[in-house]
Amino acid sequence: MSRIAYVNGQYMPHRDGAVHIEDRGYQFADGVYEVFAVNKGKLVGEQGHLERLNHSLSELRIDWPLGRRALMVVVHEIVRRNHVRDGLVYIQITRGAAPRDHAFPQQAQSALVVTAKKSGPVDKQALCAGVDVITIDDIRWQRCDIKSVSLLPNVLGKQQAREAGAFEAWQVDNEGYVTEGTSTNAWIVTMEGELVTRDISSSILNGITRLAVLEAAAEAGVQINERPFTTAEAAAAREAFITSSTSHVKAVTRINRQSIGNGHVGELTAQILDLYLDYVDEHGGPQVADTWN
Ligand code: PMP
Repeated sequence: MSRIAYVNGQYMPHRDGAVHIEDRGYQFADGVYEVFAVNKGKLVGEQGHLERLNHSLSELRIDWPLGRRALMVVVHEIVRRNHVRDGLVYIQITRGAAPRDHAFPQQAQSALVVTAKKSGPVDKQALCAGVDVITIDDIRWQRCDIKSVSLLPNVLGKQQAREAGAFEAWQVDNEGYVTEGTSTNAWIVTMEGELVTRDISSSILNGITRLAVLEAAAEAGVQINERPFTTAEAAAAREAFITSSTSHVKAVTRINRQSIGNGHVGELTAQILDLYLDYVDEHGGPQVADTWN
């Protein structure tokens, strides 16, 4: 059965989806995106993704291509037409097609592409198997809070991880603090049992999964400290994990080839995975409203 994409007003076979050669996303990476997880047929964190999308668009002064409601009709329709029960939905919005000029065009209609991809249901065993991460310099721009399609440093970082046999690369700022992974947020549990993830600023993307984990942990009385941590702290950590819509809560068992804790999924990590999954089942995602205001 063929995949269906939505491209600028039309549903079409995925393989036929195409954008204009002068689309500013293609020319300048002048666009933003969102990735929603679909879990048991339901979108995870719908409200949060829309709020973050609104933040990205408004910071870049790109118009919404459709109203929020109309956009969500398309998103749900793409999920339906692709028969996605568990998987991902991608929304990509650019400033549109216009004759090449760095400055904003006088007239351009923002371009919209929505696609979906199936995956299997959440596999707890796989998430607990433990992956390697490496650390690399964070060479990105100063507005990582915007979910821009300009992902070249992330692409290079992920490739470096793959070539090192690792799953992810944790990016490190000038002061030696981990910012985040190339497509995930980073978490550690210190030897003292402190659960830590970096606080929100323009240095990281505020993950929807991150927010859901924060809420799920708070509900269960698990304390989390939102603060930067160094690579040295990460190397000495008892547990580590990453979060994203694609990876959910995924155990990290080696950093720069050195085992974290006993080299197996941490106790708190496994608990956080369960809390997160239960929270998503119950609430559909984080109950955020004002995070991006
Ligand atoms: N940081 C970066 C750089 C990312 O690309 C992503 C994935 N969108 C995340 C964090 C995690 O965000 P989310 O939980 O919303 O998928």
